[in-house]
Amino acid sequence: MSDSVTGQTADVIVLGAGIVGVSAAIAARQRGLSVVLVDRREPGSETSYGNAGILSSGSMLPLNKPSLWSALPAYMTNRHAALRWDPAWAIRNIDWLVRFLANATPSRTKPRATALHGLIGASLKLHREWIVKANAAQRIRETGWLKAWRSDAVGAAKEEQAFLAEYGIASQLLDRQAISALEPNIVPVYKVGLLHTQTASVDSPGAVVKAYARMFAGSGGEIRRCEIKAIVPDGEGWRVVLAGGGISARHVVVALGPWSADLLRPLGYRVPLAFERGYHREFRPNPARSLQRPIHDAEGSFIMTPMEQGIRVTSGVELTARDAPSSFAQLDQVVPAARSVVEFGEAVGEPWRGALRSLAILWSPAHRLHDRPCNGSCDRSYDHGKRATLQRRAVFARPLPLMADKRQTRGLQ
Ligand SMILES: Cc1cc2nc3c(=O)[nH]c(=O)nc-3n(C[C@H](O)[C@H](O)[C@H](O)COP(=O)(O)OP(=O)(O)OC[C@H]3O[C@@H](n4cnc5c(N)ncnc54)[C@H](O)[C@@H]3O)c2cc1C
Repeated sequence: MSDSVTGQTADVIVLGAGIVGVSAAIAARQRGLSVVLVDRREPGSETSYGNAGILSSGSMLPLNKPSLWSALPAYMTNRHAALRWDPAWAIRNIDWLVRFLANATPSRTKPRATALHGLIGASLKLHREWIVKANAAQRIRETGWLKAWRSDAVGAAKEEQAFLAEYGIASQLLDRQAISALEPNIVPVYKVGLLHTQTASVDSPGAVVKAYARMFAGSGGEIRRCEIKAIVPDGEGWRVVLAGGGISARHVVVALGPWSADLLRPLGYRVPLAFERGYHREFRPNPARSLQRPIHDAEGSFIMTPMEQGIRVTSGVELTARDAPSSFAQLDQVVPAARSVVEFGEAVGEPWRGALRSLAILWSPAHRLHDRPCNGSCDRSYDHGKRATLQRRAVFARPLPLMADKRQTRGLQ
């Protein structure tokens, strides 16, 4: 990796080396294009490091889905572990909130779920191949993902099973005994379980991204570590201004996660992004009481995943400004509940916070930006795939490749 940059050209510049950017870079390189991947940090150091590590086949539902309405009274109290929100932020972002809620209807949820299902299916297949090619096969566990209820929630579990079956996704309904057989080391607190059998998980999402980055570099891709300052239209293509230089390319992929809008705004694009922040904390495991797979405690609104460093407990969603100070209230709420299920020791390291961008609307997987920046509203700013003949293309990639989506996985059913 080089730190200083001078003028240079490439076919594609990928901005951001999280799972989205690294995957986009590999895919472009596989098509024989010259690719430069740029990030200010090591690949896989931000959200793609701190997630729950679930390669979910069934996380098609966005946060704003019809069941949000029945949960809303509980969420309004701002004490629920699944969702916290900042009232001042909500007032400042009322437009986004209104659109977010307006889209939580069956007719507007179904197309999003269908779109995500197609993406997830394709990406899971690819990642199962790539993880082997990247010499990281030891990190993937094909043990599924268990969603579990403490209450007698057979109805809810069956409803979810039927929903998954509509998309051809297999799952198994479990009772207390079957859960104990599956996870013999947990306290038998769960009455009902739904095992997502086609879901896999990894023991270090950040390490997987790093392995992918090495594979990309090994295939002739270039990785630059530096701050990205701006994207500027440049002839038939784009120039990406970096700290200490620049690169020009015909195509740019914007995969900057929650920071994507910062670089698009000066071009005139107003991306309708909010931020779903989330937290995790890891705890020293008891080797005699190990977990076999991630467990989603449906009512407790947290996930416990066995990771390389320990048991990672991830909390629910926090809707607030991307850079607002951390609030560990949700983590503090869920860690004792996790301890009541799995025996683990003291915390390893500090609590982690990350942010996932959240869209209020239906977007195609990668939205092409018009040739020319627009000064109007976001909806008019994006090409929904019809203008395939664009000469110069910037693609704003959403998080599809490895990680499906954390929203469903974090208790907001
Ligand atoms: C608590 C939590 C749990 C989750 N669990 C799961 C899960 O189990 N399964 C799942 O599928 N998904 C999960 N997710 C979601 C998943 O982590 C994200 O969808 C995914 O990591 C997004 O990847 P990304 O590449 O878009 O963003 P990131 O990983 O955030 O990458 C963006 C990159 O852009 C770089 N960058 C930004 N601005 C600049 C700049 N100006 N200059 C240079 N570099 C810059 C950053 O350094 C960063 O590396 C979870 C998310 C959270 C918060």
